[in-house]
Amino acid sequence: MRSMDDKGWSRRTQVAQALGRIDAETRAVVPPIHLATTFIRDDDNQYRSGFVYGRPDNQTVREAEAIVAMLEGAAAAMVLSSGMSAAAAVFMSLSPGDHVVASKVMYWAQRNWLLTDAKAWGIETTFVDSDDLAAVEAALNPGRTKLVWIETPANPLWTVTDIEAVAKLAHGAGARLAVDSTAATPMLTRPLEHGADIVMHSATKYLNGHSDVVAGALATAREDEFWERVGRFRRSVGTILGPFEAFLLIRGMRTLDLRVKAACAGAMELASRFDAHGFVSSVLYPGLPSHPGHAIAARQMTGGFGGMLSLRLKGGEAAAIGAAARVGLWKRATSLGGVESLIEHRASVEGAGSPCPPDLLRLSVGIEDPDDLFADLDAALREAHRN
Ligand SMILES: *Cc1c(COP(=O)(O)O)cnc(C)c1O
Repeated sequence: MRSMDDKGWSRRTQVAQALGRIDAETRAVVPPIHLATTFIRDDDNQYRSGFVYGRPDNQTVREAEAIVAMLEGAAAAMVLSSGMSAAAAVFMSLSPGDHVVASKVMYWAQRNWLLTDAKAWGIETTFVDSDDLAAVEAALNPGRTKLVWIETPANPLWTVTDIEAVAKLAHGAGARLAVDSTAATPMLTRPLEHGADIVMHSATKYLNGHSDVVAGALATAREDEFWERVGRFRRSVGTILGPFEAFLLIRGMRTLDLRVKAACAGAMELASRFDAHGFVSSVLYPGLPSHPGHAIAARQMTGGFGGMLSLRLKGGEAAAIGAAARVGLWKRATSLGGVESLIEHRASVEGAGSPCPPDLLRLSVGIEDPDDLFADLDAALREAHRN
């Protein structure tokens, strides 16, 4: 593969061309999808191509990984069958008895998994408000804490955590820092540049961006012994991404920069307009100066504050569910980071133990015209209020 980055081209340029890879045989600008699950041995019994079998490795997957590694400024990247399997590969590379410190505000399924299965495997997690550095420091158990797991901005309150400060605390206690950077995307934040050791993405969201692939990604600052364990987990249990999904992910990532810019601009405009709305009690968006994490976000995120925001409604839970029921353009669905805008009453999803208030609607802003998105939700809020 001809490398583009030694020419000094920007990430935006490199991702638009998927690193500029050209198929050697046909000169096609879109490389073929490698579907083979098995490969011919050389006549002296070697596997010089480096490929043996489809569970440990795949060329199309490698091409997706090279793009993720470039975007994150990482030593290496791995793509897996989902965001959850990417996270699981990290947690399952710990040892029984290891202690984890994790953000209280985080993707709900991840929190549930840590509370149930991970606990059953001997991994104990302390949940903290990771935007409170004193709380993070107090939760660390030097020698026993092996991993600090944060999400920033974090679902569904868009809590911002200072990656650099938490990395210093984690490293001081002998722990690694992993960041779920799904909402930030590598176009806005590159956690490894702020001292994180591992970055995780639900590539189902912005990286793919079209709500048609379930995938996960990991990127590492160093190819060390821990990264080797993470890779061994994926190889052994077969949580590699399928080649067709890897191809779609590559195609999605080519427009990542454009999509993220449009989502950021739309979210910023909607946050400002709903902040002044009569039926909205507060808007949770790191781009608003009123957001408690705004100053850190302004330092840590470049080019925008992301496409995710939440509204808290004056009419409480009934108003939130009622408004979500009345939208037309917004799609009432879970997930985020696609080209289409989604709205969700999050408390209905997250269940007990969630810090999500019942009056909250989570918005994933797509690439539609923000005027249309505002008008549609404004009408739904008014109608819900009348009933
Ligand atoms: C969706 C999501 C995940 C889980 O990813 P899957 O691809 O659904 O397994 C993890 N973290 C965040 C922030 C997410 O939004």
